[in-house]
Amino acid sequence: MTHRVFKGKCPRCGKIYYSDSEDAIVLCDCWRYCPICGAEMQHYKPDLAANTYGSDGKHDLNIIMVCNNHSPPFYSSQKPVEVRFDA
Ligand SMILES: [Zn+2]
Ligand SMILES: [Zn+2]
Repeated sequence: MTHRVFKGKCPRCGKIYYSDSEDAIVLCDCWRYCPICGAEMQHYKPDLAANTYGSDGKHDLNIIMVCNNHSPPFYSSQKPVEVRFDA
């Protein structure tokens, strides 16, 4: 019996993952953490009640997470990062 271990590296944070399946895809959780302070960020919920969206408002659609530890808050549009495994 052979037991192979495949190694995958997150392209964003460089974290190494191991899997016994070459076809596995792991979602690295670094997208949930603030790149400035390292805190876990909150899911961004646009305040639709506030009628403050101007012509520039569309870029808000890309915001996924927000860290409220900063002033102004840090908005992240980073999506979950897929880690693939190489033979
Ligand atoms: Zn990562
Ligand atoms: Zn932060």
